Amino acid sequence: MKKADVVIVGTGVAGLFCALNIPENKNVFMITKDSIENNDSYLAQGGISALKNKQDYESYFEDTMRAGHYENDKKAVEVMIKSSQDIIKELINYGVEFDMEGDSFSYTREGAHSDFRILHHKDITGKEITSKLIMAVNKRKNITVSEYSKMVDIIEENNKCTGIVYRKNGKTEVVKSKVTILATGGIGGVFENSTNFPHLTADGIAVALKHNIDIKDINYIQIHPTTLYTKQKGRRFLISESVRGEGAYLLNKKGERFVNELLPRDIVSSAILNQMEKDRSDYVYISVTHLEPDFVKSKFPNIYEKCLEEGYDMTKEPIPVTPAQHYFMGGIKVDTESRTSMKNLYASGEVSCTGVHGANRLASNSLLESLVFAKRGVIDFMSYIDDIEISDFIPDLAIYEYDEKIDEEYKNIVLDEIKRKDVEFYDKWCKHVG
Ligand SMILES: Cc1cc2nc3c(=O)[nH]c(=O)nc-3n(C[C@H](O)[C@H](O)[C@H](O)COP(=O)(O)OP(=O)(O)OC[C@H]3O[C@@H](n4cnc5c(N)ncnc54)[C@H](O)[C@@H]3O)c2cc1C
Repeated sequence: MKKADVVIVGTGVAGLFCALNIPENKNVFMITKDSIENNDSYLAQGGISALKNKQDYESYFEDTMRAGHYENDKKAVEVMIKSSQDIIKELINYGVEFDMEGDSFSYTREGAHSDFRILHHKDITGKEITSKLIMAVNKRKNITVSEYSKMVDIIEENNKCTGIVYRKNGKTEVVKSKVTILATGGIGGVFENSTNFPHLTADGIAVALKHNIDIKDINYIQIHPTTLYTKQKGRRFLISESVRGEGAYLLNKKGERFVNELLPRDIVSSAILNQMEKDRSDYVYISVTHLEPDFVKSKFPNIYEKCLEEGYDMTKEPIPVTPAQHYFMGGIKVDTESRTSMKNLYASGEVSCTGVHGANRLASNSLLESLVFAKRGVIDFMSYIDDIEISDFIPDLAIYEYDEKIDEEYKNIVLDEIKRKDVEFYDKWCKHVG
């Protein structure tokens, strides 16, 4: 039986940052369902929000609250914004490079931000941050990463989490731990149309529901307005919010604008859906043909190249786009120290619900949220981890033998709960995108 001081499920920014904040005298066992870099963190294009200066506080706070329909947890929002500058410094210490203008950061803007406060590395910010954190994790002797290892359950003893059960190479394995962190990311894998990696099938949420761990706002699911339309199956390619932030137009089939492109995502997504119904079309268009081609190519090299691969030169023609599932605001309910309702179990990143986003996420707040609260969770449990004994209890493992059955069961647990909470959402979006 494996033992670790801390088990972390997931190698996105949340899992990686938890691991890096754990002192080197504690042994850490990380698992991921796929390869270490195949996670949504790697895909983030737009950037990471940060408080620009003291004067920006009120406006950043208000933008986050307004986007979240004022359902946000004010304390969590305050903690996130006030921690942002320190987190950015830490990322830079890990070697992360942000685009600069001379000696100052080059800030960009996305929908519903009233100011330019988003740090970015071209349009591959997630790759830049995640790859540098992975490099740092790989240098740590106290951290072991097991790839292609799927958590199928947590181990519960008297409402305490004492480890996990996972499947690797067709075998069921157990690792017992003092503290367990779920950093399993989003839920896009349960939808047919999503910008997320398909292996992100909401396993953390399903396991939490199964163990009666508190969940919040499971029906708060963000639909991204603009993903590249294609008839093929698989992950949908995102046309980042910052393309609209820099002035792109949304056009109907007659080439007319039909919505203010900088409104929050949920409003723009619904406007697109209505327009698609009016146009009897599976898509609308996004156009940057009125912007300087060199500006477009230098600002969005990755998006430009991907569109070219699909046969569209975005500097010359409008691109067909359609909404798709993108982000999960709800999740395992946590406090500002990332504690769940189960003892010794923490949740960080997209799988958790800190309340920062309320009913709708402000663009580029999620990488920041993941990092801020990952670190706070570690600081919290480090104050008592030495008092925890690892138990020897092993559950019955026979029930985990059939992976496909578990996958199906977990997907249904999650979809049923979304439907139970919000039939209207389920009917409107799960039928369109799922
Ligand atoms: C296309 C795209 C663009 C985005 N752009 C931005 C942006 O510009 N700015 C921003 O702030 N946010 C952006 N986001 C959102 C942001 O990337 C995510 O919210 C954030 O990275 C989540 O980090 P995470 O660590 O929680 O999850 P992820 O990075 O998704 O990591 C989840 C991890 O959990 C593992 N896992 C899942 N289930 C299991 C299991 N059962 N067993 C073992 N391992 C498991 C996965 O393999 C993976 O390693 C974007 C998202 C997408 C999809």
